Amino acid sequence: MLPTIFHPRTCWWCLTLAMMAVRLDRNGKPFLVCSVCGARGFMRTPASLNGLAVVAPVVEQIREQLTNDPRYAEQQRLVIASLKREFLAAMAPTPEQSAPQGMTFRDQLELEQKKGTKK
Ligand SMILES: [Zn+2]
Repeated sequence: MLPTIFHPRTCWWCLTLAMMAVRLDRNGKPFLVCSVCGARGFMRTPASLNGLAVVAPVVEQIREQLTNDPRYAEQQRLVIASLKREFLAAMAPTPEQSAPQGMTFRDQLELEQKKGTKK
């Protein structure tokens, strides 16, 4: 049976339920990886585990509130949209508009912003 530490968790980055997991790299050091958004977080020292212990349960509570409290979910949607707008404004335009292999992070963010304004 899989030890509890390796059980799937809500992703800290995209907040998708049960899609982030702790894995061990080839040197035996832990890292977090989300199978939805692809984010990874590397824990280089044992001190990194402090956040894993304390933050993970809080993220689960936040995810539950996002699911069950529409007013909270709307407030957080606005916070997220504001952060993404700020991020987009701070990003330098890419020298070439189209990346050789698919969309850049900026392209994805811009597309998401355009979709968001159509709602
Ligand atoms: Zn994720």
